[in-house]
Amino acid sequence: HNVILDVQNLQTYFPIQGGVVRKTVGYVHAVEDVSFQIREQETFGLVGESGCGKSTTGRTILRLIEPTSGHIYFDGQDLCALDKESMRQKRRDMQLVFQDPYASLNPRMTVRKLLEEPLKTHFSLSQAGMDEQVLWISQAVGLSPEQLERYPHQFSGGQRQRISIARALITKPRFVVADEPVSALDVSIQAQILNLLMGLQKDLKLSYLFISHDLNVVRHISNRVGVMYLGRIMELGDTEDVYHTPMHPYTQALLSAIPKRDPSEEKARIRLEGDVPSPASPPPGCAFHNRCPHCTAACKEQVPESRELSPGHWVACHLYD
Ligand code: SF4
Ligand code: MG
Repeated sequence: HNVILDVQNLQTYFPIQGGVVRKTVGYVHAVEDVSFQIREQETFGLVGESGCGKSTTGRTILRLIEPTSGHIYFDGQDLCALDKESMRQKRRDMQLVFQDPYASLNPRMTVRKLLEEPLKTHFSLSQAGMDEQVLWISQAVGLSPEQLERYPHQFSGGQRQRISIARALITKPRFVVADEPVSALDVSIQAQILNLLMGLQKDLKLSYLFISHDLNVVRHISNRVGVMYLGRIMELGDTEDVYHTPMHPYTQALLSAIPKRDPSEEKARIRLEGDVPSPASPPPGCAFHNRCPHCTAACKEQVPESRELSPGHWVACHLYD
């Protein structure tokens, strides 16, 4: 399949204001030199601990947050070169599903009104035209016609996530950022929503950027995966390659902490010392060096370049220089 999204050397910094005059005293390096591609009808998982820059990466790609530098090509077009109005139009092709659907659904609107809202933003349809689209998407996500007249608080968490998925997909986007879409749900409901997302992907030919801190969820849904730490992608490859043969010491530690479904993959738990440094003052050299069991002098000075160690499997670590 063709590449639909091509992210190159993306950086997103947030200024830190300080002092009585509120001048910029530094920057939070939320996203640091991130590059990856997503193909049509593919799910690319972005995994890492909370605060590592996953959500900021997703929101920067949609330009809900402005990038500091880098390029975001969608269908070959550089989104960073678009003005606000062109970007607004693009958003019907690029949508976002949030972790907490309750926070993103206006409690005073019925499901029907909630689903009509994105149609009104992006198209000028007659009421009959809107009714048709609302019926189509509600059936696709498993909501009944009667449920369209109800309010968000009358639904369970899983059903609210169906509503929020319907809202994201009613404009028929080609690319969706799903940011922790099942993290707020009971485990029993998570599988239903993941299966729904996978079914819709097939039917509607969607590409997903799937963001989660949950390694099992990411493995279940992703074709390829990127492992983020302190704003950087440390390892990237086919999901099964990365999970079966993790090459980066951070990935190895992360994966050693989860129970394996295949006992042959079971390895001793790697316990990391120390804390994740602040993204306001990331360490020189490898961002992981203060916690890495394999750290050498070079690691403290030089940022490791990402290298392709086997086809499609990229690792940023001096162990493989
Ligand atoms: Fe560890 Fe060095 Fe590799 Fe960083 S570059 S992960 S510190 S071995
Ligand atoms: Mg997040």
